[in-house]
Amino acid sequence: MRGHYEIDFMSPCADKSADAIVKYYWHNGDFVLHVTDAGFSSTAEKVLEHIKYHYATHGRIDHLVITHDDQDHASGARVILENFRVDNLWINTPWTFTQELLPKFDSYSSDVRLFGRLRSDYSDLAQAQDAAIKQGTKIHLAFAGTQIGAFTVLSPTREFFLQMVLGSRKTPRSSFAGVRMNLPQSLAAPAGFAPATVGVRPAHEILYGVSNKKLVSAAWGEELFSPEHTEPDNELSIVQFADFAGHRVLLTADAGRRGLLGALLFARARGIDVSALRVFQAPHHGSRRNVDAGILNAWLGPITPPPMYWDQMPQRWAMISAAENDPDHPRKAIVRALAHRGYRPVTQKGADWVRFYNENITTFHGSPLSMLAYPQSHEAN
Ligand SMILES: [Zn+2]
Repeated sequence: MRGHYEIDFMSPCADKSADAIVKYYWHNGDFVLHVTDAGFSSTAEKVLEHIKYHYATHGRIDHLVITHDDQDHASGARVILENFRVDNLWINTPWTFTQELLPKFDSYSSDVRLFGRLRSDYSDLAQAQDAAIKQGTKIHLAFAGTQIGAFTVLSPTREFFLQMVLGSRKTPRSSFAGVRMNLPQSLAAPAGFAPATVGVRPAHEILYGVSNKKLVSAAWGEELFSPEHTEPDNELSIVQFADFAGHRVLLTADAGRRGLLGALLFARARGIDVSALRVFQAPHHGSRRNVDAGILNAWLGPITPPPMYWDQMPQRWAMISAAENDPDHPRKAIVRALAHRGYRPVTQKGADWVRFYNENITTFHGSPLSMLAYPQSHEAN
């Protein structure tokens, strides 16, 4: 039997995309309140309000996961920790590995100095750690294989994490800087697909902003991703997966092609069934640098013929956390690629919070559900 679950995606502030996901679910005989990312410090209050309104009787956050040190994910953590009881904080702090990293940074010979440098390079994580220590919150690392409530961490592995810290633009120059450029090619070329004439009925008016990016029209199944990869610091993102009795959920944060490939290989090696996801969080607010056709084929399946209507499609949702007035997120290429694989692209644009739960999907305070219409064009490279 499927236990109850609720997965709520915060609608970010008006201009800047951000992530905060509040999850409440039945697991091993108890309810668990599990928060992934806390948005900006300016939106943390919104997360707290949501928690106090819906989960006041629970009285605590069992798990707070900060996926990586980006302001739009991590800077709200301190505010949450200082204003609500948090039992466990899950963060991967690079300075924990100072001894191991020291020989790889040419310009550093003192572990004390490198420790300080890494703490200032990843200052939002450092602030979260300090606040957690003050509040008596337990602090844990969260590498692939770690179990956090109902969720399993699929990426990063410890090795991949250290490699990406060395490749980061934030950290000092490293003699191992080769990792900056050492990027795998995509898994496979996009499957060719004959242009079709059947359209997809928009479920909600088009909510795209006006981006400066040049657009070219494209038929169903045609795909174009950025030739560039996302930053190594995004690849540090903690990727979490849960299976609520067949309702499989993947939370990607800002992970890129390398992190998502690693996550898939880790799941396969462990025999974890990650097929037919119910909820897929499109990484990095729907950016074109974080996925390609090969990664999406591997995670979501190949390109399918166009559906006549969205509501005939299975309940598979692609959640894209994007702010109302963010003209560049999500990218049209990403909305198209998700639809090509039978996933219905949803965003909070125009909504308040978006909730996925056992039966369906809903929004709060009477706001409409913003399903993204299928774009007839995508960004030119
Ligand atoms: Zn982000």
